[in-house]
Amino acid sequence: MTENNKNIEKIQELPMLASRGVVVFPHMVIPLLVGRDKSVEALEEAMMEEKKILIAAQKDEAVEEPAVDDIYKFGTVAEVKQLVKLPNGMLKVIVEGLQRASIIEFVSEEDYFMVQAEIFPEEEPEVNREIQALMRTVLKAFEEYIKYNRNLPGETIMSVSNIEEAGRLADVISSQVDLKFGQLEELLEAVDVVKRLEKMLELLQDEIEVLKIEQDINKRVRKQVEKNQKEYYLREKMKVIQDELDEDDDTTDEIDEYYEKMEEAELPEKAKEKVEEEIKKLNRTPNMSPEATVIRNYLDCVLELPWNKEKEEEIDIKKSEDILEEDHYGLEDIKERILEYLAVRKIAPVKKSPILCLVGAPGVGKTSLGKSVAGALNRDFVRLSLGGVRDEAEIRGHRRTYIGSRPGRIINAMRDAGSKNPVFLLDEVDKMSSDFRGDPSSAMLEVLDPEQNLEFTDHYLELPFDLSQVLFITTANVAHTIPAPLLDRMELIEIPGYTEDEKVKIAERHLLPRIYKDHGLKEDQINISTNAIYKVIREYTREAGVRELERKLAAITRKVAKEFVEGRDKSALVSVNSIEKYLGLADYEYEKSDLENRVGVATGMAYNQAGGDILAIEVAVVPGKGELILTGSLGDVMKESAQAALSYIRSKQTELELIDGFYKKYDIHIHVPQGAVPKDGPSAGITIATAIASALTGRPVRGDYAMTGEITLRGRVLPIGGLKTKILAAKRAGIKKIIIPEKNRKNFEEISDEIIRDVEINYVSHMDQVREILLVEDEKSED
Ligand code: ADP
Repeated sequence: MTENNKNIEKIQELPMLASRGVVVFPHMVIPLLVGRDKSVEALEEAMMEEKKILIAAQKDEAVEEPAVDDIYKFGTVAEVKQLVKLPNGMLKVIVEGLQRASIIEFVSEEDYFMVQAEIFPEEEPEVNREIQALMRTVLKAFEEYIKYNRNLPGETIMSVSNIEEAGRLADVISSQVDLKFGQLEELLEAVDVVKRLEKMLELLQDEIEVLKIEQDINKRVRKQVEKNQKEYYLREKMKVIQDELDEDDDTTDEIDEYYEKMEEAELPEKAKEKVEEEIKKLNRTPNMSPEATVIRNYLDCVLELPWNKEKEEEIDIKKSEDILEEDHYGLEDIKERILEYLAVRKIAPVKKSPILCLVGAPGVGKTSLGKSVAGALNRDFVRLSLGGVRDEAEIRGHRRTYIGSRPGRIINAMRDAGSKNPVFLLDEVDKMSSDFRGDPSSAMLEVLDPEQNLEFTDHYLELPFDLSQVLFITTANVAHTIPAPLLDRMELIEIPGYTEDEKVKIAERHLLPRIYKDHGLKEDQINISTNAIYKVIREYTREAGVRELERKLAAITRKVAKEFVEGRDKSALVSVNSIEKYLGLADYEYEKSDLENRVGVATGMAYNQAGGDILAIEVAVVPGKGELILTGSLGDVMKESAQAALSYIRSKQTELELIDGFYKKYDIHIHVPQGAVPKDGPSAGITIATAIASALTGRPVRGDYAMTGEITLRGRVLPIGGLKTKILAAKRAGIKKIIIPEKNRKNFEEISDEIIRDVEINYVSHMDQVREILLVEDEKSED
């Protein structure tokens, strides 16, 4: 009966609230949002009594108006801890689960559910071994569960493991574990604590299993993704490797090509070995690396050299003569010398013949002669200017270790030549200079020496190259600045320059036809008259050669061609009168040299880079201590010449009526204008002496004369060189009277009549004669 009583006590009538999506457990404190009328009413009813309400979950949370059958028959009696009415009419309540309860009967369901329920008091059984073991197992399982379920904070396990009551443990855990609605309901219905724990354990283990599988799946998925990524990565990498391999295919092509070229080039043994080695090296070197480029450049260079390509030489003197004749007007003796030179080569080809050196001002035809020689011999032609070369490496190249290194100019030119026996014109050998970087002239010596040039070594090439088949011809503007060791090996041929008549002929026969052709004009479209050419020569140029003339004629032609483009239809006649229209005002005044007589100024004839020129030598006598001052970049030889001239004057003291011991009381200052241009040579001797004599005596020098000649201490006049060039220069300057050494008279056989026509030539053998002619007797200078 007691049992019964107990039961009866346990039966209560309570308002009921159907919860949606949540199962309330004893010990659980949970906020609920309540909006449905029936629920609100149930709560209001509860508040009027003991604030107790039975919360039972509805089976399907989607059902808005649950009927009796929609509600689980098992719930939890809860106490309303707090109730807040929200402005929208809803209620927010906080409830605490107290005891499990089973609905026996729905008493009313009109306004709200009223049920009769059996309450199961939360009696914790005594914790026996079985329960303890069960609890521990459940805790362990929960721990494991947490390990797999990352959503739960780690502290949860701490708070849970402090729970000593078995039933509560199961309830608390059930609120932490992600269980399905039905499972929760089962747990709720497990009134028996042991059963509840067992159920909990079973559910946990299920969950763990699921989580494990999930994790496993995750892992596999991740692995799959990783695998995919890895595959992608590998595939990409493979592509790159493939590309690389493809390129390697190119490389193989390239390597094959090099081998082919190597065979074609017919290299000497040593070179072949070297090239093979380099090709192998290239094969081993990554395609895109800088080293590969270096090797390629090297191979290209070596393989393009004419190791064994030779043009068959034919020395046909008659044909050579024709070619030289056809290409060049005048220059008879020079052509003759060249032909002789070729004839000697023909007779004794192996003989160590000297190197030809064509010496002359710019534009006298040195290059053009070199080309003709090549044409006459049926050889290729290359040209290399040595002007300004001061570094041995420019001749011999840089070692390959040096970044950006390249072969020297000789090897480069040979590459351009295309055959190993070209005519090789070395321009401006007189303009090489040496400094700390080495002496290029010694390298040149090796190039030119037939005994050494068989195995010319270039630093870049690292291989001997045979230059012995090359026909070297050199050119220089002046002979005296050619490095002496080179000069020794050379046979000089001087080209003195042209007379006006010669220039006109050259212009008409050679320059103009070429110029017209270059400008696309036909011979009948333009005609520059002979007199017009003279005018250009006289008033627009002052040169030994014809380079400037060529430029001026080209300028005229260009303007005429432009007229045709702009619509001109009839032939253009360029006359003396129209020159100014094309070339502007004249650059020089013809025959208007400074011809005045002056004290202390004498005109010399000099030989220089530009051919020849006249040179005014000025002397001033000033009180002093007898010093000889020389200015105007004069070389040593010229200075000695001045000393000699002064000694001569001193020996003539009485004759010249000079004051006693003048040379101790006065300084004599000798100046040669155009100070920037270095001048040297003995041929200004008589000019200096004349100027000094004039300055000391105050007798003016005749301005219409120019002179040249070396002087001795005793006043003898010695012969000089470059006569023709000097006479031409004097004529260009408009001087018609000249004084030259008697000993040079024999040279006149070589000088054409045209040159000495309309020039008065005075031969002298002693300085006294010079004074006689030049110093004006009576006329005293005003200054
Ligand atoms: P250089 O080498 O002495 O400075 P170039 O050989 O370049 O002179 O000559 C300059 C130009 O004058 C070239 O067009 C050349 O053909 C021409 N020339 C020079 N001398 C003669 C000549 N005697 N006959 C024909 N053309 C000449």
